[in-house]
Amino acid sequence: MSDCIFCKIVAGEIPSKKIYEDDHVLAFHDINPIAPVHALVIPKKHIQSVLHVGLEDGETVHKIHLAIQEVAKILGVAESGFRVITNTGEHGQQTVFHIHYHVIGGRQLNWDM
Ligand code: C5P
Repeated sequence: MSDCIFCKIVAGEIPSKKIYEDDHVLAFHDINPIAPVHALVIPKKHIQSVLHVGLEDGETVHKIHLAIQEVAKILGVAESGFRVITNTGEHGQQTVFHIHYHVIGGRQLNWDM
């Protein structure tokens, strides 16, 4: 989508601090981290939210999970633990409408984050 900021990051039109990339997925550091480790894992395909994932996205969803594993290892939180969050819609505080998985860790988390 031409007006989607994450599609522009995928296209290289907006810079990002890349962590991992494969044919389906891109992972980069969040520009406004809330913890020592705060990465975003996104599909290269524009999918608006959890509500818009279809059966045809099965390989992409699988690769997102494998990418999360890689990102956790690269950023050193695979052993200590981390949280994966996908905000959805208004009450979920989704602000970028291209599905993304926050990978947050590097300190003890609680429900208030
Ligand atoms: O879940 P939500 O939609 O609120 O998260 C969007 C995230 O994208 C924010 O954490 C924001 O800091 C991040 N972001 C980014 N790089 C951009 C624009 C937004 O890392 N260029």
